[in-house]
Amino acid sequence: MSNDTSEGIGTNREEPASLNLLKRFNSAGRGFWSHVSDADWNDWHWQLRNRITTLEQLERFMPTLSPEEHAGTLLANSKLALAITPYFFNLIDPADENCPIRRQVIPRIEETNTAPWEMSDPCGEDAHSPVPGLVHRYPDRVLFLVTDRCAAYCRYCTRSRLVSNASGYDFHPEFDRQIDYIRRNPAIRDVLLSGGDPLLLSDDKLEYLLSRLRAIPHVEFLRIGSRIPIFLPQRITPALCAMLKKYHPLFMSVHSNHPRELTTEVRDALGRLADAGIPLGNQSVLLRHVNDDVTVMRALVQKLLMCRVKPYYLYQCDLIAGSAHLRASVRKGLEVMEGLRGHTTGYAVPQYVIDAPGGGGKVPVNPDYVLSRNADRVVIRNFEGKIFEYPEAADGTPLVKAPVEIEEPELV
Ligand code: SF4
Repeated sequence: MSNDTSEGIGTNREEPASLNLLKRFNSAGRGFWSHVSDADWNDWHWQLRNRITTLEQLERFMPTLSPEEHAGTLLANSKLALAITPYFFNLIDPADENCPIRRQVIPRIEETNTAPWEMSDPCGEDAHSPVPGLVHRYPDRVLFLVTDRCAAYCRYCTRSRLVSNASGYDFHPEFDRQIDYIRRNPAIRDVLLSGGDPLLLSDDKLEYLLSRLRAIPHVEFLRIGSRIPIFLPQRITPALCAMLKKYHPLFMSVHSNHPRELTTEVRDALGRLADAGIPLGNQSVLLRHVNDDVTVMRALVQKLLMCRVKPYYLYQCDLIAGSAHLRASVRKGLEVMEGLRGHTTGYAVPQYVIDAPGGGGKVPVNPDYVLSRNADRVVIRNFEGKIFEYPEAADGTPLVKAPVEIEEPELV
């Protein structure tokens, strides 16, 4: 990584040095690509054309590849393709086998281990698909899959059955049928464009889809789910932003898992989207040895706010086949959430959720702040472990007389 640092706002003398270090904004730098012109480096098409996609390239750029990574990469293109943009590759620390960036994008042989409870479609999307490329699980919203390609591939991807087409899913969205289904279902008020990554489409193609969706009167709200601002911030051009801002209300969910992903380039790209009036949220996946740590997660969420992004969801990693080595436990997730709530700005605290295996949808999971609840009071604890009572009437009407004394609950 380059020493081109730009601390700017956000370092706090009261906070531990490790947190401040993680919150520092750095450029990804040029690394092996120092000979490339600025015009090429900042051209998202150049970045895509020059992605690392083969074992040979990976070994050339990273001679420290471990035997597990070597073996995993040999098999990757029959499961989930290898692809890393030069920009994102520069964030990897080749000297650290446990580098949190490396763990997310470099295949490992453990991906071939599949437990009986793991699935290829852990969210049951295929079973809720009325037309190809459309998932309609909740009554008022749909997931509109527009492509099976991404700028880089995350080794824990929930949709690895289809993205990159390495395992032969043969995904073919049918835009006319998808849009027609939405038009014929007036209960659908919210459309989430996802994939694969919608921002891999050209501006014209994306505008074609957004304009057709915007023309449907009952579609109130459009969303784009994209990891491109993180993998390929060069894609967030002024022209793209100018196009997107014509289709408000349009929200965007980005996907960042570690504070090191939030570089100066990413901060600028997110700023361009925010300046176009696009409300930004972040979805993280809780990943073992990547972000299953209170300090790392606190740095991530605080840094996201500095990038004008609201931390939205923290996902328990789905039971995707071959992802056990990247999954952290729910207990660890609850510990991380304990370390956020009350300890930092409420805006910075995401909702921790488990996508119920098999297709039950998102279920919020929280540390136990409600210790007991009976007819006339709720006993709660705060982030410091202090206990409080909130009196209320059993029938929900305003409380007019003092509740009967109850015994202090036994606390764990
Ligand atoms: S960017 Fe999203 S869809 Fe693409 S591989 Fe990563 S998690 Fe999957």
